[in-house]
Amino acid sequence: MKIGQAEYIISAVGPAQYPTDGLPEIALAGRSNVGKSSFINKMLGRRSLVRTSEKPGKTQKLNYFKINGSFYFVDVPGYGYAKVSKKEKEAWGKMLEAYFSQRSELSAVVHLVDLRHPPSKEDVQMHDYLDYFGRPIVTVATKADKVPKGKHQKQKQMIIHDLGLGADEPLLLFSSVTGAGKDDAWRILEPFLK
Ligand code: GDP
Repeated sequence: MKIGQAEYIISAVGPAQYPTDGLPEIALAGRSNVGKSSFINKMLGRRSLVRTSEKPGKTQKLNYFKINGSFYFVDVPGYGYAKVSKKEKEAWGKMLEAYFSQRSELSAVVHLVDLRHPPSKEDVQMHDYLDYFGRPIVTVATKADKVPKGKHQKQKQMIIHDLGLGADEPLLLFSSVTGAGKDDAWRILEPFLK
């Protein structure tokens, strides 16, 4: 995928702010600090379109980025940050439900998990949640450069097992440091961009 244009469009709190041009959307979800911003920047070949390592849990909006004028990346606020209040969590849950349950332009969700660790309880919940709404899920295991190659297979199997991924559900290893997995990720996502 050659990225000509990648621009920030809007931070949406609800359906009233979603774009209305009907272009397909890929959402990106994962716990805070999993490497979501780094993934987006690497995929788009932009150093800092999305700010990395911002205070976790701070952005409670769906951030829309328009790519090549033909589709969107939708950055979903990270979960699992302990210092978020109950009220904020509820607002987050409502915003996500409105989006994942109804948004017809949403064609797939990239769910990011950390290759180094077993999926958290919230990772499992997010996977089940997306599954419940019938959303195609592309699971991406981040920070692959931090795991010795000899352990990749074992870590992969752990994620497949813990998330309950089926044989037809893609799991991809990724590193925003080396760029490993980038071409595969685009290859998997391309069918969802039409
Ligand atoms: P976000 O909170 O999910 O958006 O996570 P960030 O993209 O801000 O990344 C969190 C931290 O992990 C930052 O310090 C990144 O530099 C680091 N990081 C993200 N992806 C990778 C990766 O693939 N490899 C390594 N080694 N570090 C990464």
